[in-house]
Amino acid sequence: MEIRCQCGAFRAKLKDFHGNTPGRLVCYCDDCQRYLRHINRTDLLDSNAGTEVIPVYPADVEVVRGKEQLKCTRLSPAGTFRFSTLCCNTPIVNTRPGAPWAGFLRCVYTAGGDAQAFDQLMGPVRSRIMGQYAHGTPPAGTPGKFNLKAMLSVMPFMIKGILFGKAKPSPFFAADGVTPIADPHVLTEAERQALL
Ligand SMILES: [Zn+2]
Ligand SMILES: [Zn+2]
Repeated sequence: MEIRCQCGAFRAKLKDFHGNTPGRLVCYCDDCQRYLRHINRTDLLDSNAGTEVIPVYPADVEVVRGKEQLKCTRLSPAGTFRFSTLCCNTPIVNTRPGAPWAGFLRCVYTAGGDAQAFDQLMGPVRSRIMGQYAHGTPPAGTPGKFNLKAMLSVMPFMIKGILFGKAKPSPFFAADGVTPIADPHVLTEAERQALL
């Protein structure tokens, strides 16, 4: 599986796709909404203001080109590391050092190809979380925060990732595993609050 930004300057390959992924997940949380607002990409939110991600293991990601196009944003000093591109302002991935989790946004899977074929390969959305922040009424069964279904859809992936050491190496952090490859821009609490 190849992923890319909208203009194609950033490209990466995913090993073992789609064996190693919990599938399509949608997060309606306020921070995911704030992030897309901050980078002026609310066009990527779904009709209930959800962000779709398809996570993979950091160790399964090989950046083919365009690493220098990545910029990093954190909504707070303890926030998730959110990478987007300088070339065409595509949000790419949300991740954290040491976590077996690189949450690639849906748009980077289909920037080079066929959205319908991708949907066929992946099947339906497996779980939706944080519905309390959704706009309007999210699909039936969406919990306010998390539920058992959401836990069960990601826990096997997380446990397998920890057992097999799939958090490292990550192409988004230096060899020490904690220093992001692009200096993060960290929002102040006032900046973060102003985004909703
Ligand atoms: Zn680009
Ligand atoms: Zn979220």
